[in-house]
Amino acid sequence: MDPIPPLKDLIALPSVNPMGRVISGSEFFEGRMTEYLLGFFQRLGVPVQQVDVFPGTSSGPSRANVIARLDNPGSPVTVLFDAHQDTVPVDGMTIAPFDPVERDGRIYGRGSCDVKGGLAAMLCAFARLVETRPPRAANVVMSCTCDEESGARGIHDLIKQWGNPARKGSLVERPPDIALIAEPTELDVVVAHKGATRWKIRTRGRACHSSDPSQGVNAIYRMARVVECLEEFAARLPTQIPPHALCGSATLSVGRIEGGLSVNTVPDECTIEIDRRVIPREDPSGVMDQVGDFLRKRLDFEFEMLPPWLRAAALPDDVNLPWADRLLESVRAVTGRGEKIGVQFGTHASRTAAAGVPSIVFGPGSIAQAHTKDEWIETQQVEQAAEVFYRFAAELG
Ligand SMILES: [Zn+2]
Repeated sequence: MDPIPPLKDLIALPSVNPMGRVISGSEFFEGRMTEYLLGFFQRLGVPVQQVDVFPGTSSGPSRANVIARLDNPGSPVTVLFDAHQDTVPVDGMTIAPFDPVERDGRIYGRGSCDVKGGLAAMLCAFARLVETRPPRAANVVMSCTCDEESGARGIHDLIKQWGNPARKGSLVERPPDIALIAEPTELDVVVAHKGATRWKIRTRGRACHSSDPSQGVNAIYRMARVVECLEEFAARLPTQIPPHALCGSATLSVGRIEGGLSVNTVPDECTIEIDRRVIPREDPSGVMDQVGDFLRKRLDFEFEMLPPWLRAAALPDDVNLPWADRLLESVRAVTGRGEKIGVQFGTHASRTAAAGVPSIVFGPGSIAQAHTKDEWIETQQVEQAAEVFYRFAAELG
């Protein structure tokens, strides 16, 4: 089976994650994609389930994972193929986002690289396993998850089904032995990646008319001192925390600042948003305390650390290496190249790994093209990824 026709189908089905914004427009949410995927698996004649993750409300439709399963009776190994259904928004794109144009060995469109190319490759491998039934194949569970680009609620729901008596009858009652997460890795085998903790810090002051600032306390001046301290903290991180061999150093970045009402008012409040990238073996919860302690030692005023809205662990390369070596064999057999690497971006793999399943990230396309204004993917890489997914699962049992 050729993965390019389904890739074109998927690009033509908008599945934009609003990512917390107020939305209008028909391109949002995964519904069309979910319908397509259900039809795809039903035509293959395998067990398939639509699992609602977000109930429909007045502010949005229901959103679902699609889970299909292919059993090879007698096989002791179950592999999870996971790829997300959603994409980032299309603002500022310079190409038609939902028109899958093929040109010069590439296919263009929103999601082509992240991650409809990887999803199409997995669908193609899964369908081929159904058709050919290799005797030494693993059992394969395919999860097409919703909401990866925002809250990752889809993968959390999938993990909650493992060993959960309340979810009896699910196609994923037990955890798999190995999880392959499709994301753009340029056909290298990602065995480690960073995680992230994101939160806000707020300073408060006292507002007054700016004609006599001495009557107030300027929250922006206070925040300026906080930001200066954070710059110093960030510069020290590579020496304070030994870098990970594949992922590099822990980092901290201040990404947004907001404060003040008008130019003629001394501001009484200022807020920043912090992105702290954690490396394997760092505790994504403990990193906020490190920052709080550092600031308290240097500042003579109070500040507030607001609860994090993201706390995602890194992917450690502690238990996944034997599986990665097997995947790498398949990769090299198909492409003649490939390495085990670490990357900076986060994926579902840290979630499945934290739930006890050895997890690897692999797929066609480069992260450099993900989320871009002219997103594209090389068709040859999609075809090669489909072959790799097939070979890996066909010989695992
Ligand atoms: Zn992705």
